[in-house]
Amino acid sequence: MLQDKNLDTDNIQALLTQIEKISAASELDLAIENFLDLLKNFFAFEEVFFAIHGGTELIIKSKNYKNKINKQTQKIILDNIAQGKKTNHNSLLILPLKIHNQFIACLGIEKSSSEANELAIEFIAGTLAIAINQNQFLNDIRINNEKLLLLDKQKTELISTISHELRTPMANIMGFSELLLSRDFDAETSRSYIKEIHDASLRLSNLISNFLDLSRLEINGFLQFNNLEEAEIDWLAERAWQQLPNLNKNHRLILNKDPNLSHVLVDNDAITRVFINLFSNAIKYSPQSQEIICNITNDNDAVLVEISDKGIGIEEQEIDKIFERFYRINDTQSKFINGSGLGLWITREIISSHGGKIWVESKIGEGSKFMFTIPKGII
Ligand code: ADP
Repeated sequence: MLQDKNLDTDNIQALLTQIEKISAASELDLAIENFLDLLKNFFAFEEVFFAIHGGTELIIKSKNYKNKINKQTQKIILDNIAQGKKTNHNSLLILPLKIHNQFIACLGIEKSSSEANELAIEFIAGTLAIAINQNQFLNDIRINNEKLLLLDKQKTELISTISHELRTPMANIMGFSELLLSRDFDAETSRSYIKEIHDASLRLSNLISNFLDLSRLEINGFLQFNNLEEAEIDWLAERAWQQLPNLNKNHRLILNKDPNLSHVLVDNDAITRVFINLFSNAIKYSPQSQEIICNITNDNDAVLVEISDKGIGIEEQEIDKIFERFYRINDTQSKFINGSGLGLWITREIISSHGGKIWVESKIGEGSKFMFTIPKGII
């Protein structure tokens, strides 16, 4: 600094106008930077430093100091801010800034500044800290609003997906039962129609269970199963394959299991649903390849299940997202395949509520392998 410049009212006005812009700025860092430049020019400072109290670290807002203050110095500054004390750091005098009796930020100016200017700067920077608080508050409201809008959109989409998914099995139940009522058929034909009705009702039942899990998850944030029984997981896999209505007509399941497979302690219906969700995906997303392989082995304290298909596969960047609620891959192949984007999310929740994990390995065009573990169970 060449010489302390006193702020006249025009300068103060200009600084306050810039601060006002900060409260509503969409690019907060840029607006702060402009303010700091203004302050620097008015006082002919070489540098000014500004940072927000971020709990255990300083959130540095002045461009020239970003990533330049090490953790140890940050800690010293934070401790001083907490006690309302100033800090000397190289050529800077760092002033703590208070809002409602709480120290929330700090401003570093040149050490040689006069006491009168220090006070003026402290006042202006206090107003700056309030503006930043306001900006963050408005930003939180904006983000929450966007989340609510997205949720609303997802709810509307869900209603249309539910109606769409329920329509096919409902149509089958109505069509085949009307046919059976319309006239007498020979025993074999009647049986095949009843099988169609049975398949469609299994499909409906699985869909409804998924939707019920969805609402339980939305209300409680987790799934809880109180009906745990000792089970052979390969039996649940077979049961699930039998329940795959209509879907498995062209696909073949190859089930390999460890001869000494340990038992697991599970909710049978929930784990059956896990297999139904993973098998139906393996079938749906492998229209050109008929083989689904399910290997079940002991793996330390758990039982490991691997379900592989040679279908369309999943892009690497999509792998983490497919377990999210309502997430569906929107590429040219997947978007023509029906689904709700709920199956994998619910599957993961069921598995984690049993103390297990699920993950996937996949290569586009070569197929996918979904793997999950369930801890071994002893009653
Ligand atoms: P959906 O009802 O859409 O099948 P899921 O939650 O079961 O919903 O799966 C989410 C997305 O993950 C699917 O839309 C699909 O794009 C992808 N996916 C799931 N399983 C497979 C698989 N075996 N092969 C390829 N893509 C898959």
